[in-house]
Order: sequence, then structure tokens, then C-alpha cells
Amino acid sequence: MRWRVVLRVEGPLLMGSGPAAQMVQLGRDFVPGSAWRGALADAVLRHFGAKAPGAAGAKSWPAFEAAFGAGVRFGFLYPGPDPTWDSFPLPLTVYSCKAAPGLAEREAGSGSPGHGLRDMLLVRLRRCAGLGTGRAGRCRCGERLERRRGLAARKAGPDGDGPIYREVKVARRLMVRVGLDRRTETAAEGILYALDAAVPGPDGILCFTGGWWGDRERLEALQDLLEAACPPAGEGRAVRLGTARARGLGKAAVEIRALPGAPLPSLEHRLEAFQPRRPSGEPADPRHLYFSLTLRSPLLVRDRTGAACGRPERALLEPYAENLPADLEFLPEASAVEWETWDGWAMAWGLPRPLVTALAPGSVLAYRAPATEREAVLAFLREVEDRGLGERTAQGWGEAVACDPLHVTFDVDKEVSEGCPARCSSRTS
Ligand SMILES: [Zn+2]
Repeated sequence: MRWRVVLRVEGPLLMGSGPAAQMVQLGRDFVPGSAWRGALADAVLRHFGAKAPGAAGAKSWPAFEAAFGAGVRFGFLYPGPDPTWDSFPLPLTVYSCKAAPGLAEREAGSGSPGHGLRDMLLVRLRRCAGLGTGRAGRCRCGERLERRRGLAARKAGPDGDGPIYREVKVARRLMVRVGLDRRTETAAEGILYALDAAVPGPDGILCFTGGWWGDRERLEALQDLLEAACPPAGEGRAVRLGTARARGLGKAAVEIRALPGAPLPSLEHRLEAFQPRRPSGEPADPRHLYFSLTLRSPLLVRDRTGAACGRPERALLEPYAENLPADLEFLPEASAVEWETWDGWAMAWGLPRPLVTALAPGSVLAYRAPATEREAVLAFLREVEDRGLGERTAQGWGEAVACDPLHVTFDVDKEVSEGCPARCSSRTS
């Protein structure tokens, strides 16, 4: 079961990305699952004296095991305008006009309007289904389309309309600090270093949202431990996270609560909207069902030799999923994947984590399966959304949205069919 997590950060936050280079510690725009899991576990272990020398630690501690052990997932948290928005990395299939990038005015609501976002996934699926497409890689103004990177957020529209979207930019500040001499505890000569921290907007709060997965008993175990170990802060519990906590960074309040409403249409509905259709409305490929997994966190799937794999085909998914449709087919020509190297600091252990290369958040995996496997496809997608896919799922890795409606909302062909008669002729040539 998914619960909604809201993390409110007061003041600067530094989620380090790798070791400092040239005395500059670069930061990330989001909070990995391991970072807030480690911060909560550390606060609990300290409070109960489990980190003291000679203490038994967290071993054979049922409440701690229930709250942090197997069966729970701490998801990645992404920044958004406020807690009512659901934030995520933009999928790698999203493009935008080179001259005027970003959401169009009616979608953005504020800021200088762009020429809109265009998503390429459904076009590629249509091609896999044997359909031609009228799309050329150009914006309506004639400019080239470019990959659009970054973060976005969505929430239900007013009057129950489809969701509204917004792009998210996190303000960052380079904070220069003086190194201290350990011997004299005064400023060390020639040692300056810089921290690239995320800072709150004008309202003074940086707000991150995401998920926590576990049953009700486990959530209650976690809440009980946090109530004992962390002082109250607003509607949540105070916690310190990230790098440079001793220098006053990373003051936050975490809140886990029941998910309000359904943020996404039902899985059946999303799957239906993904099927390639001819202009007449007939399915273009009635023998297959097409679907995708859009990653919200890194995905690590290893092949038989133990190497990280960029083509998660059926045989490779077998160790990771119980409900695999028969003849599940990975579609590399429709997918969009990128690699990223991850490291980190295991706060509860006080040790660095090993370097691992995995598929980056925002990667889009496209698949098809025989139309007769409909129930198995739905079971597979439900399993991935509920439990995550691949390795390190407890730290929030392998979180994916099946048939994300974003790909339908920003489908590049939609614009062609909805028409802009004057200028379209030049694009279809
Ligand atoms: Zn344009």
C-alpha cells in the first residue's frame, strides 16, 4: 500500500552527489529514498541508545525491523510547488521547442510561456504497431525540438478535469565555508570549500513529495518510533538530513499520511489509452497490447553475469517479478534509457556505499505482449507499481508508473491531429 510522504525543508538542503571535487560539493535536486530512510533510522537508533558502544544495535528489535526492514519501501522524494502536487523527473521521451522551451502558457499558469512539451513515446509505439506518423521533429514555429530535462509536478485540475502540469525549478546557492584546523579549532589557512545547496523559494519552504510503501501495522510501528525519537514539527516530525548537518543545513519535517484520492486514472484506463489506433479508431495491432514503465527512481536489473542491464527483457526480469506475461517483448526502438552512477553515504552504518551504475530516473521502458495476456499484463504492472522492480527496492529504487498519462497528454501527434492548418503543411513534408 502506498502512503504519501511530504518533506518540508526549512533553509538550505544539500543532498550530496558523489565526493567533493576541487573543494566543491555538488548537490542533487531530490531526496533519494536511502537518504531519508537513513536519517529516520539514525534518529531512532540514537534515541534508543542502539548506537552506543556495546549496545545490541537494531538486531532482534521487532519494532525497528517492522518499520525499516523487509516489506517497506522508502521512495524518492521530488520537489514541488506545495504538498498538493505530485512531483517527478520529466521522462526522457519529452521534448520542447529549442527557441521557446517549456510548457505553453495555458499549462504553466505563470512565468514566460514556452511552445509546450511534446512527448515521443506514443509515436514510437505507433511505429512499432506498423502505423506511419505525420510528425517531423519540429515545433509549430519551425524550430527544432530538443530533449527537455528537469522536474515536473502534476495535480488534479479544477472541477475534476484532467491533471494540470507544472515544471519545477529548484533554486540553488553556492555556500562558501572556511575549513577548520582540527588541532587549533581555528580557521585553517588556505582551506575554503563550497557547498552547492538547494534553497527555499520566496515562501521559505522547500517541499518534497513521494511515497512510502508498507502495510498499516508497519506504518504504525514507524510512527510510534518517530513519535518517541523525533520532536514534533508542524504536522510531522523533525529530522535532519543530507550533508553539512553540523553546519545547520538539512532541517526538515517529515509527514507520512494516507493518500488523498486517486492521483492517477485506473490501470485499466491507462492501458487502454496507450493502445495505438488508426485515425478511424480501430486498433492498429489487435494482436498485441502496448505499455510502458516510466521510471521515477533508478532501476538496477542484473543479467546472469551480474552486470547491470540496459535492456530489461523478459528473461532478465524473471528473478525480479512474479507476474510476467508470456511472450513479453521489450521494445528498444520505443524505449528511452540513460545510465547514471550512484554512490552515497549510509547514514545508519556511517559508511560510504559502493558505486553502482543503473538506469536513470526518467528512463522509459516500452513493452508489448500478446493481447490474450491482458490479465497477466495488468498483474505485472500492478506488481511493479506496488513493489518496485529490480534491486534496492527498499531504498526506493525501481519505482515506476505504468502507462503514465503524461505521455498521452503531451503526445506529439495529438497536436498534428488537433491541427494548425496554416503551418502544418511545412512540417509533414
Ligand atoms: Zn517553437
